[in-house]
Amino acid sequence: MGHDVETLKGRLPLLEYLRRQNWTSRRVGRFEYVGLCPLHQESRPSFYVNTRKDVFYCHGCGQGGDLIRFVQLSRQASFRQSLAYLDPEAHREATGIALLQQAAAFYQQQLDHYPEALEYLRQRGLHDPSLIRESRIGYAPGGVLRHHLTTQGHSFSVLREAGLINAQGTDALYQRIVFPLYQDEQIVNLYGRSIVTAFAHRFLPGGKGGLYAWEKVRCCSEVILVEGLFDYAALRQAGFSNVTCSLGTHLNADQFGQLSDGPRVVYIAFDDDANQSGRQAAEQLAHRLAAHGISTRRVLLPEGQDPNSFFVGGGDARQFQSLLEAAEP
Ligand SMILES: [Zn+2]
Repeated sequence: MGHDVETLKGRLPLLEYLRRQNWTSRRVGRFEYVGLCPLHQESRPSFYVNTRKDVFYCHGCGQGGDLIRFVQLSRQASFRQSLAYLDPEAHREATGIALLQQAAAFYQQQLDHYPEALEYLRQRGLHDPSLIRESRIGYAPGGVLRHHLTTQGHSFSVLREAGLINAQGTDALYQRIVFPLYQDEQIVNLYGRSIVTAFAHRFLPGGKGGLYAWEKVRCCSEVILVEGLFDYAALRQAGFSNVTCSLGTHLNADQFGQLSDGPRVVYIAFDDDANQSGRQAAEQLAHRLAAHGISTRRVLLPEGQDPNSFFVGGGDARQFQSLLEAAEP
C-alpha cells in the first residue's frame, strides 16, 4: 500500500492535480506557488504548494498535507476512497506524458527524412544541428503518427484524448515543424509550426506550460523575452544564451510568475508588426512587471521585423546587441 501511494504521487504531482482542477497560482520561490485556497473562502491567496516536498499548506484555514490529504479534504472522502479516485487520474496522467514523449521522439526521427522540413528550417535561418538536436525539434509529416503509436499498443481513444489525432482519426499535426514544450523536464505539450501557410501555429489541447527553456535562464540577471520559438532559435544561434520564449504575447500565470520570481532585467523583444499588437503587448507586460518590481527594456526592432526575420535578413549578433543597449525602459 505504502509503495502504491508513492507511485501514485510520483505520477501525479500535487501541483499538476491542482492545475487540472483549474487552480491558478503565482510562483513565489524556486519550489513554491501561492494561490487562493480551494478549501475555504478567501479573497487573498494564502494557499501554498511546495513542489519539492509535494505538499500544501494554507495559512488561512490551517490545513496542510499531501495530494491524498488534499483529496480527502476537498472531496470529503476517506483515505481509501481518495486513493481509488486518484488512481485512474494518475494513470491517465502517466499515459499522457508517455504518449507525448513517444510522439516527440517519433517526430524527431522524421525530420531528416523530409527535405521540405529541412528546407523550411533553412529558410527560417535555423541551421545549427546541435541546437536542433538539443531542442529536440522534429517534423510531423502527417498521416504517419497514428499508425506508429497504435502499433506500439496505444488505443485510438488514448490518442484522441491526448489530442494527437482528431475526431476523423487523422494526425492532428500535419506538415508541421514540431517543438516539444517541457516543464520541470516533462513534456507538457507539442507546438507545431506549419511549413505551408494555413493556420501557422498549433498546440495540442492543454496549456503551453511555463516559459520555454526557463531552467536555462532563471538565474540570469538579464533575460531576453521573445514571442516565437523561431525568434528564440535565431537568438540562441547568434550566441545569446539568456533567451526565453512565451509562445505568444500573452503570458499565462505560470510564465508571469517565473519572470517575476526574483530581481532581473527583462528585455522584451516582441514582433514589430504592422497592427502594433506586439508593441502594445510589450507595453502592457512592462507595466505589469514593473508593478512586481521587475525592470524591463523594450527592444525596438526595425519596422515590421521580429528577432527571427532580423537575423534571416542579414542582421548579426553585434547589431542585435546594439538594439539591446539602445532598448528603452
Ligand atoms: Zn484554506
